[in-house]
Amino acid sequence: MTTKKIGRRDFLKSSFAGLGGFIYLGANEKTLQEKLEEKTEKKMAYRVLGKTGIRLPVITMGVMNTDNPSLVHAALNAGMFHLDTAQTYQRGTNEAMIGEALQGRPRDSFMIATKARLPNDQKTGLYPAEATEEAYTAKIDTSLKSLKLDYIDIYYHHNVWVRDSALFEPIMKSLEKAKKAGKIRFIGITTHRNEPEVIQAAIDSRVYDVVLAAYNFRQKHSEEVKKAIGQAAAAGLGVVAMKTIGGNIRGAYATEQIDARAALKWALQDTNVHTIIAGFTTFDQMNLNLAVMKDMALTQAEKAHLRRATLLSGLYCQGCGQCVKQCTKQLPIPDLMRAYMYVYGYRNLGAAQDLLLSLNLPAEACQDCSSCPVKCLNRWKVSDKILDVLRLREVPSGFLA
Ligand code: SF4
Ligand code: SF4
Repeated sequence: MTTKKIGRRDFLKSSFAGLGGFIYLGANEKTLQEKLEEKTEKKMAYRVLGKTGIRLPVITMGVMNTDNPSLVHAALNAGMFHLDTAQTYQRGTNEAMIGEALQGRPRDSFMIATKARLPNDQKTGLYPAEATEEAYTAKIDTSLKSLKLDYIDIYYHHNVWVRDSALFEPIMKSLEKAKKAGKIRFIGITTHRNEPEVIQAAIDSRVYDVVLAAYNFRQKHSEEVKKAIGQAAAAGLGVVAMKTIGGNIRGAYATEQIDARAALKWALQDTNVHTIIAGFTTFDQMNLNLAVMKDMALTQAEKAHLRRATLLSGLYCQGCGQCVKQCTKQLPIPDLMRAYMYVYGYRNLGAAQDLLLSLNLPAEACQDCSSCPVKCLNRWKVSDKILDVLRLREVPSGFLA
């Protein structure tokens, strides 16, 4: 069998023909993934991404923290054919790195998800008048160019935490038109906090096909997220989980270690989660993810570890937002805590600096408060963490590449 390359025209043809599968194939043809699967000794687990009909490995490679094309190749060769990125990752170079790595691979052998958003009000999460349909369409076109692709499989409206922004018409129109034009196959939305509200908005919109939400055993509102995810799956949306490890601390500052294997398995016990994004950066971590896909059962020891680990404060900001109202300067503390996690959890200083610089913070944030009234749900002394991470603002960006 010769494998067909699928271009935008073929893709449109397959969509209009009502073929819900991953690629446009003749009746008896098998996808490269199906053939690869047949060769694998112990099979990886797959789940169907809602009404998209796409069958995905239960763990997806999150490419956010790596600039290593060899790792992307290794993941693809091992059968992790769904890659997740965003326009801003790796200082805007991640999509291009992946696009280069994919050269020469048949288009039906991988799936790409990427994301973008427009600048919003960091305090309210709402979009200003300058956020237009055209501006968002330009983002989609930039992603297509960087990835060197005719179409993108899932395009996510990124990092939304309020209903009104999830339903922001200019962005939804842009995504719908891109889908109709064959530039993207499915429309998604991502949410790192206030997830249940955003997921409900996605269901109500009848525009979004996939939700990508933070979901982990350390979330104090994990039951609410679980319920929302269940409703999304029942409504036919594809459900993708992220932040499943819940903010481990690495390196010299590490006093607490979470068993990544146990945390991944915890999220996979929920069958409404169709795939998890795991942002691995080493071959060992990749192998751990592959092993989890072949054995998802939680052992007694792993369950006991998770019970203990829920008591650790770690690096995971619950995104409850109560700190923002208490802060005299109304700083976007959840975003600052995310930057802190990028530094001490992901060791991705570039991403942390980019995030900090995007927040339009006052020059003297925290320095000129005589005391801090903020009571964090995690009992963190947030002002200490803010002062620590803000030092990155002064570091020349070239040192962090
Ligand atoms: S110390 Fe920082 S976090 Fe606390 S109130 Fe002042 S600006 Fe807000
Ligand atoms: S109170 Fe603490 S846990 Fe809640 S959003 Fe603020 S920093 Fe995060």
